[in-house]
Amino acid sequence: MNILDRYHAMDYGPAPEARNEADAWLAARDFGKALFIDGAWKAASGGKTFETSEPSSGKLLAKVSDASAADIEAAVAAATKALPKWSASSGYQRAKVLYAIGRAMQRHQRLFAVLETIDNGKPIRESRDIDVPLAIRHFIHHAGWAQALDKDFPGHKGVGVVGQIIPWNFPLLMLAWKIAPALAAGCTVVLKPAEFTPLTAILFAEICERAGVPKGVVNIVQGGPEAGAAIVNHPGIQKIAFTGSSEVGKIIRKATAGSGKKLSLELGGKSAFIVFEDADLDSAVEGLVDGIWFNQGQVCCAGSRLLVQEGIAEALIAKVKTRMSRLRVGSPLDKNTDIGPLVDITQLDRVKGLVAEGAKQGAICWQPDAALPSSGYYHLPTLATGVSPANILAQEEVFGPVLATMTFRNTEEAIELANNTRYGLAASVWSENVNLALHVAPQLKAGVVWVNGTNMFDAACGFGGYRESGFGREGGREGMFEYLAARLPLGPVIKAATVSAQPVEQADGLAIDRTAKLFIGGKQVRPDGNYSLAVATAKGKLAGEVGLGSRKDIRDAVSSARACKAWPEATAYNRSQVLYYLAENLSGRTDEFAARLVQLTGVTAKAAREEVEQSIERLFLYAGLADKFEGRVHQPPARAVTLALHEPVGVIGIVAPDASPLLGLISLIAPALAMGNPVVAVPSERYPLLATDLYQVIEYSDVPAGAINIVTGRSGELAGVLARHDDVDGLWVFADAETCAKAEAESIGNLKRVWSGNGRSLDWASGEAAGDAFLRRAIEVKNVWVPYGD
Ligand code: NAD
Repeated sequence: MNILDRYHAMDYGPAPEARNEADAWLAARDFGKALFIDGAWKAASGGKTFETSEPSSGKLLAKVSDASAADIEAAVAAATKALPKWSASSGYQRAKVLYAIGRAMQRHQRLFAVLETIDNGKPIRESRDIDVPLAIRHFIHHAGWAQALDKDFPGHKGVGVVGQIIPWNFPLLMLAWKIAPALAAGCTVVLKPAEFTPLTAILFAEICERAGVPKGVVNIVQGGPEAGAAIVNHPGIQKIAFTGSSEVGKIIRKATAGSGKKLSLELGGKSAFIVFEDADLDSAVEGLVDGIWFNQGQVCCAGSRLLVQEGIAEALIAKVKTRMSRLRVGSPLDKNTDIGPLVDITQLDRVKGLVAEGAKQGAICWQPDAALPSSGYYHLPTLATGVSPANILAQEEVFGPVLATMTFRNTEEAIELANNTRYGLAASVWSENVNLALHVAPQLKAGVVWVNGTNMFDAACGFGGYRESGFGREGGREGMFEYLAARLPLGPVIKAATVSAQPVEQADGLAIDRTAKLFIGGKQVRPDGNYSLAVATAKGKLAGEVGLGSRKDIRDAVSSARACKAWPEATAYNRSQVLYYLAENLSGRTDEFAARLVQLTGVTAKAAREEVEQSIERLFLYAGLADKFEGRVHQPPARAVTLALHEPVGVIGIVAPDASPLLGLISLIAPALAMGNPVVAVPSERYPLLATDLYQVIEYSDVPAGAINIVTGRSGELAGVLARHDDVDGLWVFADAETCAKAEAESIGNLKRVWSGNGRSLDWASGEAAGDAFLRRAIEVKNVWVPYGD
């Protein structure tokens, strides 16, 4: 045997991580008392337990207390009791606690890593080098936010008691992503880990005891969907933060509708891994290993769809297969293992089922020729080629080590394929041409884009999705907002509109010779149903008629808004000029609008003039902010910059209130427009003529067709149509409580971002009813990671 033969015959020897400390910890703990409530360890009140076992062997690890509704009640009571003192404590005090948690975790770093690997099955290299260090970084990073709260988030305070529910794929890391910002914001928490992976959360609760976390500030309950549902439905909780499947996310969106609870949902994904022909193929192959085989593919942002440019497809696939043959499948505690077992037999069966179905639908599924360990829930890394865009492997989140491959011809096709999914969590773009990569990144409907890299995370960089991948961000500045409530000036309670007798008698001196139409696609159009709605003056006489918009009209308005590319693609400077122009043209008609306000609402002439002037001022404000509410650049502890870009949400539906009917409408439309969102607005049902009078102002202000659409009619009914429409990305509803609740509940189709006043209007004249709090709702933050260095 010569040296070369010896070299090729070399293999890794076993390199097992010691588990004695973890086993000693497991043996010493009483898992029958695993609920950490009010600083004490408790058994489940009903005495129930559930089992957690080791994925690499199937062996039982512990029987863990399964919290009942009464236990959730006790945990919420403890969090509620602890809230006043914790939220009133200084940022410095909270920072010290967060820092102490981080430091205590550092001291037990290896125990955390080994326990995580034993309980979840992920390779020790990953838990040791990624999960645990990132979790620690999260606490230390957020210590800073606790202290910077007053300065960086003026006008905000912690939301209160938060309920947090997490999945099993990154048990400790997801816990850190949830608990760290909540504590920094002054909230108290009730957190429920996933039932497959309860262990590291129990060790974390021990850390809280040692780090001086006051009793009741962190409560950790264990259990499954029932315990989760009890948290979601508890009226004493002000915010729910959920990470898990889109299916459960939708259940939670529905369950919390109308409750006034703040909600963030971090859900599934089907992320694209796009390789252009000028990419460094060897780097791309290594990227794929991290993108789809990291944590056995049980990663929400796994690059599970490989989109490769036609000319290099064959070469890349050959390299991928060679690399796959070298992936080491085996004991997760072995430091050389690349691929460990899946978390549970149910997950293994699900993955096998999806692969079989994908093959049935025409995919060619290839696996390396490797032996699997004799016990445990292992699945070989799998490459599916010949996958059609409709194949189940291209559409469904497999959550396993399965890569679906498709080819594309040009950049446009790559973007189209990448966006051909109901999800929008992450994407990875590979090209040596950074201009091309940065051209593609903004066009991808995904919350995170990695250029020539994948699965990079940091506590300072927000993470979260578009579309059915959920809403809200975790990490960084944007993640802090999820635990803060903006102080908005509340206005009157909005009563449901009653269909009153229609006024017939004309107001003095007014000849009704036409019905105001709808404004769709830049044109005044008749309502589809050809019905109209009479509008009364303040004195109950007939002021005019407007079109009675229907489902069909909303559909037309939404497709015009969707087709309007000119607005989202316009430069911020251009949008700013159009908003200034709107203000200028409205100002030229101040008298006319003031008279209309007097006629319809009965306010004094002075008050009416003030409302028109405030509306003009508000348009000015957002015209000015259009090119100033910008993203940031993060410098994470990696050789990369992260561009936190502000992007429009998409088409925003707006249901405007009756209170201050002109100012209220403008206060909602202007920030949405300023950030590049085309809008479909339903103006005040009672005073719609103020909106229809705006048509001419809009027509003379260079607003591109479709950027502003106005559909008059019954607010409650049209709000429901907007909520159910899957091409509406965001919905802002200031209507009665029932309409708001319905809009939230019915928005689950595409998980649109709903902002509702929960039945309250705002005091639109207040300066606090404008500015960043509105602009923030009009954007998505997309984090684009750009590594540097040779
Ligand atoms: P899952 O939705 O089944 O469960 C998640 C959590 O919700 C668990 O704690 C579970 O007990 C609880 N739960 C289940 N039903 C519930 C209900 N009706 N009410 C309240 N709580 C309930 O998800 P999973 O299988 O544990 O995790 C995998 C999913 O998580 C994948 O879809 C993955 O993409 C997603 N995920 C997303 C992110 C992200 O940041 N976007 C991160 C990790 C995982």
